Amino acid sequence: MTGASPATTIDVLVVGGGSAALCAAIAARRLGAKVRLVEQAPSSLRGGNSRHARNFRLMHDEAHWYVPDSYGEAAFLGDLRRVTAGATDEVLARLLIRGSASIAPWLQENGVALQDPRSGVMPHSKRTAFFLGGGKAMVNALYATAAAVGVEIGYDSEVVALHLDDEHCSKAVIARAGIAETVAAKSVVLACGGHQADRAWLRESFGDVADGLVIRGTPYVTGRVLRLLLEAGAKPVGDPAQAHIVAVDARGPAVDGGIVTRITAIPYGIVVDRNAQRFHDEGEDARKTHYARWGARIAQCDGQIAYLIMDAAGRARALPTALPPIEADSLNELAGKLELDAAALSATLGAFNAAVRSTGATEALVPPKSHGAKPLTEPPFAAYPMRPGLTFTHFGVAVDERMRVQTKDGDRLDNIFAAGMIMAANVLGRGYLAGLGVTLSAVFGRLAGEEAARHGR
Ligand SMILES: Cc1cc2nc3c(=O)[nH]c(=O)nc-3n(C[C@H](O)[C@H](O)[C@H](O)COP(=O)(O)OP(=O)(O)OC[C@H]3O[C@@H](n4cnc5c(N)ncnc54)[C@H](O)[C@@H]3O)c2cc1C
Repeated sequence: MTGASPATTIDVLVVGGGSAALCAAIAARRLGAKVRLVEQAPSSLRGGNSRHARNFRLMHDEAHWYVPDSYGEAAFLGDLRRVTAGATDEVLARLLIRGSASIAPWLQENGVALQDPRSGVMPHSKRTAFFLGGGKAMVNALYATAAAVGVEIGYDSEVVALHLDDEHCSKAVIARAGIAETVAAKSVVLACGGHQADRAWLRESFGDVADGLVIRGTPYVTGRVLRLLLEAGAKPVGDPAQAHIVAVDARGPAVDGGIVTRITAIPYGIVVDRNAQRFHDEGEDARKTHYARWGARIAQCDGQIAYLIMDAAGRARALPTALPPIEADSLNELAGKLELDAAALSATLGAFNAAVRSTGATEALVPPKSHGAKPLTEPPFAAYPMRPGLTFTHFGVAVDERMRVQTKDGDRLDNIFAAGMIMAANVLGRGYLAGLGVTLSAVFGRLAGEEAARHGR
C-alpha cells in the first residue's frame, strides 16, 4: 500500500455498507451532516448480510397494511428475554423495541418497499414485516436514497486503522486499490458487522470445527474494525464462541450462499452422521425454525457433516430447495451416492422402522424420534448432505443508549458510535428471534447516525 494521503475532513464517517450503515448515513445526512460511507465490498456485492434478509421484527399496537394484528412492547420483550435466557441489556432492548415501532414508515420514507401480507407470498406473521423483493431490494433502495440525499459513497474501501487518542477518534485510514487515504471525521459510526467471516478468529473460539463451517453471508465481514476497537480498549460484550448456526445444504457455496441453502425438512426423515448413525431426535422440534437448532448439532459431528434421509413420502412434504435432493431407487444406491457404509445405513434404517409405533413416536430406540415418526420404506429415497451454516456470532462491543462505544474502564469513546451486528450482543447475547437482525441494524443504525450528526455539530 502506498503512503497515506493528507487528511480530508467530514462530519460523519460511516464504516460499512449494510442496513446499519445505510440507515446511519441517511439519518445523519438528513440532519445536515456531511457524510461519507465506506463499503469494503465492490458495488456488485455491496450490502453485507443485509442483502440476504427478508423480514424485520417490529412492535405495533394495531394492524397496518404491511403487518396484521398487534405485537406490543411486553410481548416483544418477553420473546427477547425467552430466547436470550436473560442475556439482554433491558435498557437497550426497550430502546430497540420502541424504535422498531417507527422503523417501517421510516424505511418506506427512504424508498424501501414492503410486501403486502395479504398477497400470501410470505408466511403469515404478526411479528415481522417482509421486504418486497427481499433484502437486496431493500439495500438497493437505501443506496439510491443515500446517494440522492448527498451521502458520498465509496466501494472497495476498507477501514484498516483508527487513530485514537484520549478516547477520541481523530482519523481513520481507508485502503482502496492499494492506496491509503487518511480521513478526519468529527464522528465515526462503525456499522461493519461482526467477525463471522474471519475463519482464523472463528478457529480461536471453535477450534477445528471452524474449518467445517459454511459462512452463510458476505465474506467481507471479517471483524477487522472490531479487533481494532477491542485493542484500543473497547469493552467486549457477549461470547465469540456463541453463534447462530443453522443446517445448510453441504453442496452450497462455502460463503455467501444466503437463505436458499437452508434445509427445513428434518422432521420428515432421519438424520445420520458420516458413520450412518442417528444422533438426535428428529421429531423434537417440528417448528419451521427447527433448522436453526440443527446447525450446532451438525457442528459437533465428525467432519461437520450429516445427512437427512427421507423416503418418497417425506420428500413430498419437503419444501422445494435450491438444489434438489440426491435420489436413488434403493437405500444401497443412496448410500453409494452419499459415500456412506451401505450396511450401516440399512441397519440404522431397519432399527428405526422397527421402532416406529402408530402413535407417531419410536419405542425403545436411542435416540428416539418423539413426533412425526413414520417408517421410511417408499422409494425413491432422497437425501440432503448438511453442514453447519454460520449466520453471526454473539460477540461485539458494548454501547450506551446513545450508541457510543464503551471502554473497559467504564468510560466511553467520545466520538465513536456503533450499530448493527458489531454491537448486537448487547441485546442478543444468545439465541435468535426471526427478523431481529435487520431491526437491530435499522433502528440502532438510524439512532447512531442521528447521534453522530449531533455530536459533529
Ligand atoms: C443468509 C442470511 C439470512 C438472513 N435473514 C435475515 C432476515 O430475514 N431477517 C433479519 O432480520 N436478519 C436476517 N439475517 C441477519 C441480518 O442480515 C443481519 O443481522 C443484518 O442485516 C446485519 O446488518 P449490518 O448492517 O449490521 O451488517 P451487514 O449487513 O453484514 O453489513 C456489514 C458491512 O460492513 C462492511 N465492512 C466490513 N468491514 C469493513 C471495513 N473494515 N471497512 C469498510 N466496510 C466494512 C461489509 O462489506 C458489509 O457491507 C440474515 C443473515 C444471513 C447471513
